[in-house]
Amino acid sequence: MLFSTLGLCEELLKAIAEQGYARPSAIQVTAIPAVLSGRDVMAAAQTGTGKTAAFVLPVLQGLMNKAPCDSKQVRVLIITPTRELAAQVALSVERYSQYLPVRSCAAFGGIRIDSQIEKLRSKVDVLTATPGRLLDLFDRQALDFTEIEVVVFDEADRMLELGFSKEIQRIHSLLPMVRQTLMFSATFSTAIKTLAKGMLNNPQLIELAGLNKTVDAVKQVIHPVDKSRKSELLIHLLKTHRWPQVLVFSRTKEGADRLVIQLEQAGITSAAIHANRSQHARTLVLDGFRNGTVKVLVATDIASRGIDISQLPCVINVDLPYVAEDYVHRIGRTGRAGAAGIAISLFSDDETKQLVAIERAIGRKFSLERIPGFMPSKKAVLKGEDDEDEYGNFEADAKPRRKGRANARKNHRNR
Ligand code: AMP
Repeated sequence: MLFSTLGLCEELLKAIAEQGYARPSAIQVTAIPAVLSGRDVMAAAQTGTGKTAAFVLPVLQGLMNKAPCDSKQVRVLIITPTRELAAQVALSVERYSQYLPVRSCAAFGGIRIDSQIEKLRSKVDVLTATPGRLLDLFDRQALDFTEIEVVVFDEADRMLELGFSKEIQRIHSLLPMVRQTLMFSATFSTAIKTLAKGMLNNPQLIELAGLNKTVDAVKQVIHPVDKSRKSELLIHLLKTHRWPQVLVFSRTKEGADRLVIQLEQAGITSAAIHANRSQHARTLVLDGFRNGTVKVLVATDIASRGIDISQLPCVINVDLPYVAEDYVHRIGRTGRAGAAGIAISLFSDDETKQLVAIERAIGRKFSLERIPGFMPSKKAVLKGEDDEDEYGNFEADAKPRRKGRANARKNHRNR
């Protein structure tokens, strides 16, 4: 899927290309056409999934061919729970709208309100604001809500957590009846559903259920290791855990063949299945795996598509796939039909891009589990340690926001 197939204009596509985004993320593929259709949208998406672009891009597109706003009026209002998020979203609006005649600004506490009042007076199309400062501007008659066409509630679950429920209700009461409302939240909790009930009109729900369902059923573990020691670690894991059957994934046919030689040398019965092998050879290998004479089956992504073996206890990714959806297919080979399964990925420092893409596609962050005796020596993996957030999760590119959240918790409320 390419951005150019989502119905976005040339000016936006140019800005996206400048950001270096090759493909839309899962939430973008679903949310962009939904928002462009003009419907209300309620989407479950966590930080790091590309959710900001999922609403900013189509909202900017909606402003094309519209007359500029009058003084003190805005067409698009984006509400965020924290100052840090407001600043980040406003920056995204600026970047994505650089080739459009759109004016935008941010309004949040900690910065003198006078400059924000001045900016609103000079005509703004898109305003990104925290709830407290937004109402402050309204009460000072620096802002008029009558021309608002689109309202976005970003990280709505955090707004409730931070106690902004009353402010949200008041903002809602001030909005024009006819408008498009978008709500993004990490989860659809009961509280969020209740909040959305009165504010959204027959919204399209976006949950990326297919991906998340597979992913939820499987325990996922990432072991960082030097690339040169992956086969050694694989043999160590197979000997330590003694799973009755394991499906191992290799990105290349040559890699799969090499692994089989190494496993056999270590006394582990194994066989490879990939596109270079004849149909007859593949059938024999699969039969051997089914009847238990082959303990470890090493497969490439394409060859694995035809494998139908239920209830595998374990899948091991010796390397991470380039395409995030392949990861979901791979781990979907275990934990089937409600059986518990584990998916282990051996991650080396040259695979950070793939890891981030997978995290984005499945909407969650992995934690790295180091194995004694196999600690990675390379700098890039150790950098992952610096990037652990307060929950011990690996944070490939969301560190600034986590910090922001920690500060936000301390400050508690923003005005
Ligand atoms: P968000 O979930 O909106 O906080 O985005 C997380 C990060 O992903 C940000 O650094 C974005 O710039 C980046 N991003 C958003 N969409 C894409 C994409 N399609 N490809 C690569 N990176 C992206």
